[in-house]
Amino acid sequence: MSDLNSRRSGTESEMTDFKNENRVGLFNFDLTRIKILNKIFKSRSFQPALMLLNMIVFAVLILAGIYGTPIGNRNAAIIMVWILWFSLLIALLVPLGGRAWCLMCPLPAPGEWLSRLSIIRKAKHQLNLGLKWPKKLDNIWMQNFGFLIIATLSPVILTRPAATSYMLLFFIFLGIILSVLFKKQGRIGRIFCKFVCPVGGFIGLYSLMGAVEVKSKNTEVCQKCRDKSCIKGNEKGWGCPWYEYPGNMDRNLYCGLCTECIKTCPNENVAFRTRPFGADLLKKKKVDEAFKSFIMLGSGLFFLTVFFGWWGSLKDIADPITGVYLAGPIQWKDLIRYGGMLWGVSLGVIPLVYLACSWLSKLVSGNNEISPKKLFVDYAYALVPLGLMIWVGFVVGMLMINGSYVVSVISDPFGWGWNLFGTSGFKWRPFFPGAIPYIQLGCVLIGLMGSFSKGYKISLEIFRKKSIALKALMPMNAFFIIFGVVFIYFFVMV
Ligand code: SF4
Ligand code: SF4
Ligand code: SF4
Repeated sequence: MSDLNSRRSGTESEMTDFKNENRVGLFNFDLTRIKILNKIFKSRSFQPALMLLNMIVFAVLILAGIYGTPIGNRNAAIIMVWILWFSLLIALLVPLGGRAWCLMCPLPAPGEWLSRLSIIRKAKHQLNLGLKWPKKLDNIWMQNFGFLIIATLSPVILTRPAATSYMLLFFIFLGIILSVLFKKQGRIGRIFCKFVCPVGGFIGLYSLMGAVEVKSKNTEVCQKCRDKSCIKGNEKGWGCPWYEYPGNMDRNLYCGLCTECIKTCPNENVAFRTRPFGADLLKKKKVDEAFKSFIMLGSGLFFLTVFFGWWGSLKDIADPITGVYLAGPIQWKDLIRYGGMLWGVSLGVIPLVYLACSWLSKLVSGNNEISPKKLFVDYAYALVPLGLMIWVGFVVGMLMINGSYVVSVISDPFGWGWNLFGTSGFKWRPFFPGAIPYIQLGCVLIGLMGSFSKGYKISLEIFRKKSIALKALMPMNAFFIIFGVVFIYFFVMV
C-alpha cells in the first residue's frame, strides 16, 4: 500500500506509466504476465520456428508458381497468396495483430539469418559490408512507390502464377542484398522491411489500428536504465532489428513484434499487450505516411471502379478477353494506361481534393496561424479506419466468392492432377453470396464511424476547443461521407 501511495504522489509521467503498467481488461492486457507466453516470447526459437514454418509453405507456393499449371485458379501460388493470405492479412491479422504477420513472415528470413550468421543463437560475428543506410531514404516513400508498382503490375501478377513466384523471389533476393550491404545506427537489421517492402508499408500504417503492441512498461525505468540492451542487444538477443527504442516508442508503426526486446531487457520492462483499436492514430504524423493513406484509399477506389464501374473505357481495360487481365500476351499499352490512372488517382486526385478540404478546414476554423499542410498531414490519419475497412470489405467479398478454389488447390497445388486430401474435385461455388453486400456495407459504415471519431480527436488535438474542432472537421467529414457513399454504391448497388 505504501508503495502504491508513493507512486500516486509521483509526477504525471509516473502516473501514466503506473496506469500503463497496471492496465487490465480485454484491451489492456499484458500477455507477458502469462507465464507460458512470457517463456515463449523469451525463447530464441520462437520467431525462427514461425518463419521456418511459413518458409516451407512459401517454398511450395513459389515452386507451384514456376513449375505448376499457368491457369491461375488452379495454381496454389495465385489462390493461396492472393485469395487466402492477402484476405486473412487484411481482414484478420492486421486489425487484430497489427504487424503480427511481420513476426512470422518468411521473406526477410534468408537475409536476416545470413547477416546474423545464425538462425537461433546469438552469434558473435556477422556478415555485413557496413554501408550506411542513406538518411534520405529513412522514410516509407520507397514502400509507397513499391506498392504502386506492384498494384500497376497486378493484372500480370494476379493472373500469372510464375509472376507471383518471381515477385516473391525478388523480395527475398532484395532482402538478402540489403541485409548484407547496409547497417543503420551501426547495426544490422531489417532495412528491407522498414524502408523497402511494399507490403510492410501498408501493414505498418494499418497496424496503427491493430489491437496489440510491444511497449515499455514503465518509461521511468527506461530513462534510468544504463544498459539499453533493447537497442544494443546482449547475449540473450539482438538489438531492435527495426531500429526502434522501446523506451520511448510511442506508436507501433515500425515495430515488427519480433520480441527481441522482451528477450534482451534485463529489467523485465517490455510488455506485449492488447490495446484498443486505433490507439496509435493520434500520435506522431508524417507526410510519407499520410501519402500511404491516400494511396491505399486511391488504389481501393481504382480497383472497384475498374471492376464494377459504369465507365466504359475503364471497364474495357479489365476486360478478360482484350484487357490487361489476359492469360495471353501482356497488353503493355493497356497496362501503362491502367498504371497511369492508378498513380494519377492515388498521388494526384485524392491528395489534391484532401488538400482543398484542409484549406477549407483552415478557413472555417478562423485560425490563420495553422497551415493547411499541417491539417493535410494530420487529418490524413483519420482516413486510416475508412481505408482499412474498405479493404476489409473488398477482401472479404473476394474470399467469399473465390474461397472455394482454396479447397481444391490444397489437394493439387501445382495443378498436376494430384488429390492429396481428396478435395481436388471441389467445384467453384461462392459462399453465402447474398450476405456479401451487407457485410461490405457494414465494413464501410464501421470505417466511417472510425474516421469520424478519429477525425474529431485529431481536430481537438489541433484546435483544442470543441466548437472549433467540430467546425474545422466539417470539410473532412464531407470527404469521408462522399467516399463512403461511393464505396457503398460499388459494394451494394453494382
Ligand atoms: S515488412 Fe514485408 S518482408 Fe518484412 S516482415 Fe513485413 S511483410 Fe515481410
Ligand atoms: S533495456 Fe529495458 S529498461 Fe532498459 S531501456 Fe531498454 S526496455 Fe527500457
Ligand atoms: S521494439 Fe522490440 S518487438 Fe518491436 S521490433 Fe524492436 S525489438 Fe522487436
